Amino acid sequence: MRSSFTIDRRRLIALAAAPVFVRHARAADEPRFALGIASGCPLPDRLVLWTRLTGDTLPPQVDVDWELADDETFTRIAARGRETAEAAWAHSVHAEPAGLAPGRHYFYRFTALGQRSAVGRTCTAPAPDAQATLRFAIASCQRFDHGHYAAWRHLAADPPELVLFLGDYIYEYASPRQAIRPHDGGLLRTLADYRARYAQYKRDPALQAAHAACPWLVSCDDHEVENDYAGERGSSLQGEALLQLRAAAYQAAWEHQPLPKAWRPQGAAMRLHGRWDWGRLARFQVVDGRQHRDPQACLPPGRSGGSASVDAAACAALRDPQRSLLGPAQEQWLADGWDAQRPWNLLAQPTLMARCSTRPWRDVPAETPQPPGRYWNDGWDGYAAARTRLLEGIAARRLPNAVALGGDVHAHYVADLKADFDDARAPVVASEFCGTSISSHGWAQRQVDAVLALNPHLHHGRADQRGYMHFTLDARRLDARLMAVERPDDPASPVGVQARFAVEDGRPGPQRA
Ligand code: FE
Ligand code: CA
Repeated sequence: MRSSFTIDRRRLIALAAAPVFVRHARAADEPRFALGIASGCPLPDRLVLWTRLTGDTLPPQVDVDWELADDETFTRIAARGRETAEAAWAHSVHAEPAGLAPGRHYFYRFTALGQRSAVGRTCTAPAPDAQATLRFAIASCQRFDHGHYAAWRHLAADPPELVLFLGDYIYEYASPRQAIRPHDGGLLRTLADYRARYAQYKRDPALQAAHAACPWLVSCDDHEVENDYAGERGSSLQGEALLQLRAAAYQAAWEHQPLPKAWRPQGAAMRLHGRWDWGRLARFQVVDGRQHRDPQACLPPGRSGGSASVDAAACAALRDPQRSLLGPAQEQWLADGWDAQRPWNLLAQPTLMARCSTRPWRDVPAETPQPPGRYWNDGWDGYAAARTRLLEGIAARRLPNAVALGGDVHAHYVADLKADFDDARAPVVASEFCGTSISSHGWAQRQVDAVLALNPHLHHGRADQRGYMHFTLDARRLDARLMAVERPDDPASPVGVQARFAVEDGRPGPQRA
């Protein structure tokens, strides 16, 4: 009730103020930083600062000054510079201060057209040889018309040092009539459409606060382009039409995220994978699970894109070793990047990695020629041989602690990862934490309960709550808190801890804590 009162009151003030504003509107009155600010991609000596100017009266090119300081009042400036915001790139700014001190907190702000942005807080990564600890969060799937961002509000109030956003930052759909806060516009088809959708999401104050609180590593999944797209195949468009859509979507993604200039897309191609080290503690590898993947296997007749649940017995392609979710080049890049020197290797990828059968296989006679089970062909189950390749690679390198982080499935899952999920005695080679959605709706919990019963390597599964995962990491232990929003329709909802798990150094597999 309190929140609706606040909104009504704001609306009243806005209505009362509107005629006055219109009469005296000048370019100087237009807010220039209405989409907030952000930072990302922290390295020991550099990072990326982001903003995008707003307003209808922007010239084609605008000078934007940025400052990075040791203190919140900007008396000790560590770096400053000027960027040109260009209309061709939606007046976005991607400043890249360099020569910074490692393992340090900084404050930053922008100035343009006589206005100053809010102040953001960020940090550099520790020096490569530094002992370090890290508090970080993973988040994904923030469908705006499904709910409010109480999760972001909570995260920003006690921020971690790093946020990994694992995909579905926007959704491309038109909103249903009954949506709690509808998307502006319809299904996204043009660059202008994507820009407007990002701008709508970015106006949310809780999301802005979360960006301003710490640096992010941003990855993308399907909805930044189109549901379930795989390379050149989407669920509604394919081939050249999908590539054109991808070019528009990737451009808008780059324009709205704290990504390096070097990642600026060229046509339908965009770099979306990278490697970040946190002192001697951890290596993060962030991968792109969409752009380079093979199409989903065994789609029903008449369908040329999208996903489906398929019976393994009727779909040999599920296990075809030629098929890949990351693509051969990215698979090799990932394999080359595992770091046996650091205690923790963290793989940030879009979706659930653990095998997730939705139908029993246990009661099938042992001589059955095909492994039974029913699988969603868009996830790693649709690329099972590639998953085995990845996990056998981890086992072969004897990485002390490999942890997969994911999203996409709108549920908190905690799992053991094994090269052979069919063998109950197969060793656990890695741990998995797949976080629930910030706001996007999930399955009914009874469906997840059925899945848990069929997949003993899944220790925890909750689709009924929105939230994120918070981690505390040191050389000996990873502590995970599965955060859950109490009332997803309330932007001020409390956020509690749904469950706690830990991974101890040298002991693969999460334990309930
Ligand atoms: Fe999603
Ligand atoms: Ca997704």
